[in-house]
Amino acid sequence: MGSAGNGPFDYYADGDWNAICSMCGHKFKASMLRKHWQGLWRCEKCWEPRQPQDFVRAVPDIVTPPWTQPDQTGTLIQTCSFPQTLAVAGLGVAGCMVAGRTVSNLADYISAIPFSIPLPSISAPLDGDTVSGVSVFVTVTSTNLGNVDYGYIQVDGVTVDSSITNGTFSWDSTGVSNGVHTISFTVVDLHFVPHSTSISVTVSNAPSVVSTNFYSITV
Ligand SMILES: [Zn+2]
Repeated sequence: MGSAGNGPFDYYADGDWNAICSMCGHKFKASMLRKHWQGLWRCEKCWEPRQPQDFVRAVPDIVTPPWTQPDQTGTLIQTCSFPQTLAVAGLGVAGCMVAGRTVSNLADYISAIPFSIPLPSISAPLDGDTVSGVSVFVTVTSTNLGNVDYGYIQVDGVTVDSSITNGTFSWDSTGVSNGVHTISFTVVDLHFVPHSTSISVTVSNAPSVVSTNFYSITV
């Protein structure tokens, strides 16, 4: 029924017609082709289903934050760092000390409190006074007594009282020769640094009396 040169589907079929596969180009009966998902028609060998991933319903990522706020201005936390050494002038830094800090050792104590150097003074006798007797009252005190560890009084460099920081000490001036002598008062602060002041006094005691009994000798 077919003629030479015709393809295998060049025959009459009622209600059918010839069609070319859009993929391989071969001729088929139209009823043998299937519509591909991309729109054109293909033969049975060329037809393929759509990739299943194409049907996955993905939720798009939200790339815009729902709300924002301005950048914060940095607030630095101040820290204190002191060398744990002897007293240094200006050691106390305003705003750096912490009230009520637990003090467990001297180094902590040094860095915990603002430190004011104690300054000793001698209020009596006055510098240049003449003194005498067994009870010369030497009155001493110091500023910042809370920062004083201990104090002592010396006469000409010899310690005569080693336990006074504030008060009056009775000094026996008869133990030294008449003339000018130096009375000094020293307070040692909590950093073990001594602070001193001194005055000069003139000691004028009556010569020693060997005896008050005089005998007349009649020859
Ligand atoms: Zn085909």
